[in-house]
Amino acid sequence: MIGEGRVAIVTGGGRGIGRAVAVRLAREGADVAISYRSNDATAQEAAEEVRAAGARCEIFKGDVASPGDVEALFKGVGEAFGKIDILVNNAGVTRDNLMMRMKEEEFDDVLKTNLKGTYLCTRAALRPMIRARWGRIVNVSSVVGLVGNAGQANYAASKAGIIGFTKSVAREVAQRGITANVVAPGYVETELTGSLPEKVKDQIRGQVPAGRFGEAEEVAEVVAFLVGEGAGYVTGQTVAVDGGMTMQ
Ligand code: NDP
Repeated sequence: MIGEGRVAIVTGGGRGIGRAVAVRLAREGADVAISYRSNDATAQEAAEEVRAAGARCEIFKGDVASPGDVEALFKGVGEAFGKIDILVNNAGVTRDNLMMRMKEEEFDDVLKTNLKGTYLCTRAALRPMIRARWGRIVNVSSVVGLVGNAGQANYAASKAGIIGFTKSVAREVAQRGITANVVAPGYVETELTGSLPEKVKDQIRGQVPAGRFGEAEEVAEVVAFLVGEGAGYVTGQTVAVDGGMTMQ
């Protein structure tokens, strides 16, 4: 369980997996700050859902890859809630292309949001967590970061990078009461995967022992465990939530 009065930041909490995480943490008693990049309407809806679960919720617009925006996010959360206990680095994008055709901007965009964004938010969260001698960080990677995927070399690099990054942070702050872990979802029904052609979705289902896509709530379940009071001795781990796809 998450302790009463904990304050969580969920990046990319306006839609998909991040929204499910925000709602789940709220149900367990945390107040939640949702960061999102551009979609005001879905962020407002997500905030209403979090408030309906009984929590305080504020939304913050900005790019996790921008140092200025991240500074504003953490300043805003500090002013609104007075502290930061939990950080879920979930904001992520894809710009798929085969390696031979991959443009530099496609590579840079994905690395900046997924990996640099995780670094900027983690750095900003650590100071208040170290002061409080308590903190929980969960970074959202992907099975693609574990096993690769044709057409996603940029995304795989960013998601594998998140795993090494998290292990290093976990080692640095383990003695300060702070844990850092990774969840690596398989294919989950969200807008990110919604655009895949039905034929491709069928192929994917064929590769998953569970025979289906995952649900955002199933990822949120694992995040809720990792940020809970009882998970203080779990750190540097990568938990795949993938219907048995990788079984590492
Ligand atoms: P969605 O595309 O549904 O939602 C992405 C969220 O991230 C949105 O709220 C979006 O904001 C926000 N976001 C994107 N870029 C930025 C940015 N630069 N700064 C701030 N916020 C940003 O994604 P999913 O829910 O599907 O994915 C969430 C995470 O899970 C990602 O890291 C993804 O890589 C990972 N994942 C997803 C899988 C899947 O099958 N869906 C599988 C494995 C991993 P806005 O709403 O304003 O656009």
